[in-house]
Amino acid sequence: MTELHSQVIPLELAEHSYDITVGYGLKDSLAQTLKPWNQGQKWVVLTQQAIFDIYRPVIDALQSAGYDISPIIVPGDESAKNIKHAEQVWAQMVELGCDRSSILLAMGGGVVGDLGGFVAATYMRGIPFIQLPTTLLAMVDSSIGGKTAVNLSAGKNLVGAIYQPKAVLVDPSFLETLPKRNVISSLAEAVKYGFIRDTSIFDTFVTRYADLVALNDQALLADVIAKSCNIKAQIVSNDQFENGERKLLNFGHTIGHAFETIQEYGGLYHGEAVLYGMKCASYISHKKGLLDDAEFNAAMDVLNKFELPQLGAVEPSQVLEIVGHDKKNINGTLSFILVDGIGNGVINTEVTPEDIVESLSAVA
Ligand code: ADP
Ligand code: ZN
Repeated sequence: MTELHSQVIPLELAEHSYDITVGYGLKDSLAQTLKPWNQGQKWVVLTQQAIFDIYRPVIDALQSAGYDISPIIVPGDESAKNIKHAEQVWAQMVELGCDRSSILLAMGGGVVGDLGGFVAATYMRGIPFIQLPTTLLAMVDSSIGGKTAVNLSAGKNLVGAIYQPKAVLVDPSFLETLPKRNVISSLAEAVKYGFIRDTSIFDTFVTRYADLVALNDQALLADVIAKSCNIKAQIVSNDQFENGERKLLNFGHTIGHAFETIQEYGGLYHGEAVLYGMKCASYISHKKGLLDDAEFNAAMDVLNKFELPQLGAVEPSQVLEIVGHDKKNINGTLSFILVDGIGNGVINTEVTPEDIVESLSAVA
């Protein structure tokens, strides 16, 4: 493996600032990387069985280097993001002798990161935690920005806190064991950054999509991930609590969320639903004259590169109902994230129900 230099991306949030480090092979030198935080206190690594089975050597190496670290395993699916499991983790931490100086390392995807952050935010009123994302979605999106949560039966992420990690350590080599469908769907969030902020990311998808999916160019992949992290870091730094600019990150997510809800049991992945949602948002951007014909065609060409499961029949009225629930603002119009030119996301654009229904033709 060629040695690649790590890229360090600062996320500026006053006393809650931290670095996101992106580098192939980071996981193989964790004992060194984590040294600044280790004062001999108790560590726990929160993870899932499938990840533990593959990456146990990462934890073994920390133990061998003298870290007092114990694994805590939670279920391998979204059901782990539940207050019952949070309680079990809290209880195990008490049993292991964790105190206020203990550190939680979240080694996993979005599920582990969200639950781990929530547990860290609440255990003894808050202990430090470090994100070690193992999925692409977590690397470019969910591990950055401090959103932590558990689900209720009434809906996802209904209980949680904004609680920032001390560091995010991104090692793309974790992706080599991730199922391909998960890689492809998570690239949705990366191409999203191309749409809202960075034409160079968009152009990389135009020319190198196959190489990204195949993970066969480490420098290219690390670069796209680092650029994505950088955009997310800047946006979070400007608007931690999502009053304005952070809404840009919801590009493709409004109608995408409707698809996700409608197909809940058909099982569209989040990124897949967002890809369909970005097709609709591009359609509306074009209809409103924000994308010209050439830009719209380029947008659809890129989005059509992604291999997606069929979007079953969607009832326009159902989409409208869910979108309306989500996004209705005070005077009854719908507020959307669109693109005014590729690379330039805009928030708070008014959209009519007719625009939304018409946009479904982009995914028919
Ligand atoms: P996401 O971050 O995409 O939302 P999840 O946290 O739901 O994904 O994880 C998806 C599944 O993939 C889980 O079952 C998880 O245990 C497994 N997983 C996560 N990272 C890896 C990896 N690097 N290799 C293999 N399986 C993984
Ligand atoms: Zn998303």
